[in-house]
Amino acid sequence: MYALVDGNNFYVSCERVFRPSLQGRPVVVLSNNDGCAIARSNEAKALGIGMGQPYHEFRRLEGDAGLVTLSANFTLYGDMSTRLMSIAAGLGPEQEIYSIDESFVGVAGVPAITRRAHLVRERLLQWIGVPCGIGIGPTKTLAKLANHVAKSADRKPGSYPGEFARVANLGELPASDLDAVLAATELGDVWGIGRRIGEQLRAAGLRTALDVARLDPATVRRRWSVVLERTVRELQGQPCIQLEDAAAAKKEIACTRSFGRTIQRLQDLQEAVTEFVGRAAEKLRRQESLAGQLLVFIHTSPFRRQDRQYARSITVPLRRPTADTLHLADVAITALQAIYRPGYNYAKAGVMLLDLQDQAVKQGELDLDEPGADRGRLMAAMDAINRRHGRGAVHAASAGTTGDRREWAMRQQRRTPHYTTDWRQLPIARA
Ligand SMILES: [Mg+2]
Repeated sequence: MYALVDGNNFYVSCERVFRPSLQGRPVVVLSNNDGCAIARSNEAKALGIGMGQPYHEFRRLEGDAGLVTLSANFTLYGDMSTRLMSIAAGLGPEQEIYSIDESFVGVAGVPAITRRAHLVRERLLQWIGVPCGIGIGPTKTLAKLANHVAKSADRKPGSYPGEFARVANLGELPASDLDAVLAATELGDVWGIGRRIGEQLRAAGLRTALDVARLDPATVRRRWSVVLERTVRELQGQPCIQLEDAAAAKKEIACTRSFGRTIQRLQDLQEAVTEFVGRAAEKLRRQESLAGQLLVFIHTSPFRRQDRQYARSITVPLRRPTADTLHLADVAITALQAIYRPGYNYAKAGVMLLDLQDQAVKQGELDLDEPGADRGRLMAAMDAINRRHGRGAVHAASAGTTGDRREWAMRQQRRTPHYTTDWRQLPIARA
């Protein structure tokens, strides 16, 4: 049995924890440089704002509909994610962190799992303030579908029976009830059915998850692919996808592992993290993306009660978006060194690539560190520009600045503070 814990509209929910005035309002979080929507509150979805839609297309709703737009605050989301994951880990003995706000938990043999899931969900809400949906099923695909059911039943009453709201356990249903749930689910909402396969299936006359579940696996393999065959079998309740064996998510790429036995030495963690970076970067290149930020986390096991507990993550903005394994590994190692503390039994580590962008879309930048760059001409050009446009029109960004300077210089006009990771930016409840 698997459970999938997933934060609702995660980036928006993180922002709302610290700005309760955003509750009930349409809120959108924008990608790097405020380009397009990467997270939407339910109210923003109701306004018709699409995932990935360019900002200029819905900007007018700020005036017309009270829309609030925010710049992405990955430092905040990364830290909130680590907190969410460490609480979600309490659901069962095995955990796979699938993306920044989603984790699969192996819950085989865990007693009264539906009730336990409700308790973990309440704890998540109380301790970190992020509403989550939890789906449970005998396969990962069914757990994912159960999660979709849990969220839809909560958000759109009538879409599924009300008892599935927030926590849906498809593992306890009589077969006829499971069929009814599958029949109420559009096939495009099934994990692993992308847009292209979805269109092909619809062209073949299929409509719902139940239609897909009733296909013959052998025929599916011959006519489509082994991947779709796996999805069909999983919908039929036959587990084919193991924990930590999943395809890449689209918005961010995670590579995380539980260690076979606990690790204490920095050197060993460095090797593990380097390997994770390699795998994540390979997926990144395969989907022709670049990462703008990188998150590294390490933690001990909450199931080793005898151990002192430690969990930390760190999110590093990259100077330039990249898919270069060596560069990403460098950044990840430095980040790991910053959060590593000796004397703990580390059970898990991971790397997440965030702020993904299409590799075809690149911010123009002069590479001034290029070997053989003609500095004389560069200086002459700088002086000429400054004479013409005023002193300081062009200047070295490194002069007397801190790491935050570049973020400040980027177009992130609406970014909220790093509430949870910087003493100077702590929220003040009573001034
Ligand atoms: Mg989510």
